[in-house]
Amino acid sequence: MTAPVLRPDPAAIRQAAAILKEGGLVAMPTETVYGLAADAANADAVARLYAAKGRPSFNPLIAHCASADIAFGQGDFSAQARHLAAAFWPGPLTFVVEAIEATTVCPLARAGLDTLALRVPAHPGARALLEAFGGPLVAPSANPSGRISPTRAEHVAADMGDKLDLILDGGPCTQGIESTVIDARGGHPVVLRPGSVSPADIAAHWPGVISGKDDQTAPSSPGQLLRHYAPQARLRLDVIAPEPGEAYLGFGPGKATLNLSPDSDLAEAAANLFAMLRELDTGHERIAVAPIPREDLGAAINDRLARAAKQD
Ligand code: AMP
Ligand code: MG
Repeated sequence: MTAPVLRPDPAAIRQAAAILKEGGLVAMPTETVYGLAADAANADAVARLYAAKGRPSFNPLIAHCASADIAFGQGDFSAQARHLAAAFWPGPLTFVVEAIEATTVCPLARAGLDTLALRVPAHPGARALLEAFGGPLVAPSANPSGRISPTRAEHVAADMGDKLDLILDGGPCTQGIESTVIDARGGHPVVLRPGSVSPADIAAHWPGVISGKDDQTAPSSPGQLLRHYAPQARLRLDVIAPEPGEAYLGFGPGKATLNLSPDSDLAEAAANLFAMLRELDTGHERIAVAPIPREDLGAAINDRLARAAKQD
């Protein structure tokens, strides 16, 4: 049976919170991608979530909270980390910090680590659900592990509808790329996963940000699997002239099968990326992607494309 799809009105939010309290799974809209929410404190619910996604259980989950104060009650935030959180929360920035003893996030959700990833999302649907639920919700992207992240409720229904209890339809995601993950434990923030907040954005509030890839001492983020976000089709990147038989995902002016942003707008391209990859993946065996600048949000877009293009 496939899960009902409801707009996140007050009655649907109450129903969703009740399902989560009983250990169920609810897909919720966030500003980045659709999340697959479960009670972070309930190990059985988290185990169901890992199983539904086919996600390796060494890959820890982000705990989403209704407010910064709730997040600060779960993990150890330095004064600088709090200052940065105040600048970006609610929003698409995730902090990895030491878990504090009182944390209610179960060890399975943390993959047994002493650290904890925390975020306060901005989407009104996610916020309403988190407020109604009270405690932290883990919410990885609502897609089978390794596949393209969902940016619309229809994507979730198609990929996971039979494995969930309810889907909240909050419309298309505005950012379209997952949150930026930083390690906030030291004197400088270290980017573990590039995302919709750029290192320059972070540096304006906490100078000395280290972009993780350049720093061999950076702690690894277990979720940075090489092949991820993958379509079924074969993907070729930085292509100026597509070959016959290839669908062309364009960027900027020019002819293309689909165009991420005819105006070369990186935010628009990020919002369109996963939905367009999905659309081209039905009906094409090969997809060529136009070059996309690597600065700002382009770093996160290229990170996702490189993983999507990686062959098994
Ligand atoms: P997703 O839930 O699919 O958006 O992925 C969550 C990301 O956060 C993955 O890249 C995880 O590896 C990363 N993450 C979650 N918890 C931790 C942690 N304690 N330490 C480092 N990275 C983490
Ligand atoms: Mg994901």
